Formats: sequence, C-alpha cells, structure tokens
Amino acid sequence: MEKQADINKVVRQHAEMAEFFSGGLTVKTKTSPVNTEPQSEAESRVSASAETIKQLEVIAEQTRQCRKCRLGSIRKNAVPGEGNPSARIMFVGEAPGADEDEQARPFVGRAGQLLDKIIVACGLKRNDVFIANIIKCRPPENRDPLPDEIIACLPYLQQQIELINPEIIVALGAHAAKTLLNTTKPIGQLRGLFHEYVPAIGHKPIKLMPTFHPAYLLRNYSDENRRKVWEDMKKVLAEINLPVPQKSDK
Ligand code: URA
Repeated sequence: MEKQADINKVVRQHAEMAEFFSGGLTVKTKTSPVNTEPQSEAESRVSASAETIKQLEVIAEQTRQCRKCRLGSIRKNAVPGEGNPSARIMFVGEAPGADEDEQARPFVGRAGQLLDKIIVACGLKRNDVFIANIIKCRPPENRDPLPDEIIACLPYLQQQIELINPEIIVALGAHAAKTLLNTTKPIGQLRGLFHEYVPAIGHKPIKLMPTFHPAYLLRNYSDENRRKVWEDMKKVLAEINLPVPQKSDK
C-alpha cells in the first residue's frame, strides 16, 4: 500500500476514535451535510463567521497546547494559520520555517513574501484568504515532516478546512498536495488540474488546485515555473468567478 494512503487512513481512524471517545464533543463545523436545507453561499459565509472565528481560535489554542509529537517540545511557537474565516480560497503549505516559528504566523519568510506577491497579483489581499500548513510546528532544520507528525497534526488542518469551507484549496507544493489528495503522484503531474479534497464522509468535496510551493519557485525561478504558477492561479480565480487580472509580466 502507498505510504501516503497509510497516513490518511490512520489520521481518519484517529479522528473517528477521538470523536467516539469524546462523545462527539470535537469541534463542530458550520459545513452543512450535503443533504440538509441549503443556504446561499453568501448567507452561510456571513452567518457562520462569528461562530467560525470562535472555533478557529479553539483549534489555534489546541495547537499551542499540543504535545502530540516531538515537535511540540522543540518549537518556539505553534503556527496554527491565519486569515479570513470566510475565505473563498485557502492556501495550504507544508510546515512552518524559522521565521514562522519565531513569529507564530504562516508564510512570513522569503517564501511568504513571494506568496504575498502571488496573492496580490490575483487582485486579492492577504486577509481575503486563509493560510495554513499541513503541520503546525517547525521541524528541526526544516526537514520534511515525518509520517507520525502528519498523523498527529493533520486533524487540526482538517477541522480548519471544515470550518472555513473554502471554495478552493490551493495546495502549495508536493507535501500539501500529496497529503490532502492521498496520493504519491509527483507535483508535476498534479499541478494545473483541479482535484477534489473530501473533508469528511457526507460533506461536499472541495476543489483543490496543487501548484508549486513558493520556496520551490524561489529555488527554481524560471519564467516557465513562474508562468505555470500564474496559470494555476488564473484557473483558481476563473473557477470561482473572480476577475483575472490581465498582466503580461507574470
Ligand atoms: N513554508 C511553508 O510550507 N509554510 C510556511 O508557513 C512557511 C514556509
């Protein structure tokens, strides 16, 4: 069986066990099961936000208290994620780096500055979107997250996604894309196409666009790679009927 598939199966089992043993007292989400009375997108986004903010803060506090894996005791700060609780677009990266660990905020280092530029190029502001990571604590020397760290941490992100219920998730880089899509396919094959992220059984799938991680783009800053990321983002904007800025120098 594929390594990535194992991780997702174990995460799902952990979540089910946690829900079972807490008598269903895990964080409730605003997301309606598919077959309940639908609210319009605008209505549900406005009415859900006060409760959503509260519950997102509960998750953020849980990550600050979390010692479920070794990273909890060696990080400076947990980096739960931040942004608009009613975001239509959610960006998901891999893990905090040194700057993020220092400031307890996602994507604030060099890769973050590039992500900010991408967001602005899309005609958006940073606080229009929500930005989070697969794991909430910095791995030592920025090594890749280990499977047990992902298993311990992924439920926080899964709950954030359910609460925010974005129209599109942009998975930044191979780790985010492979983890959320439960696949071992390389990012080169995944990017540029819409996939589906399924938040939980009975919930509507959320469209997911994988693209290159800004840190990869910084290391491989070619016109071709830049254009690929811009093409991916144009598809994201068009998919949710946001205007696509027409600039020739992306
Ligand atoms: N890289 C990530 O994947 N996430 C961050 O928050 C910063 C850099």
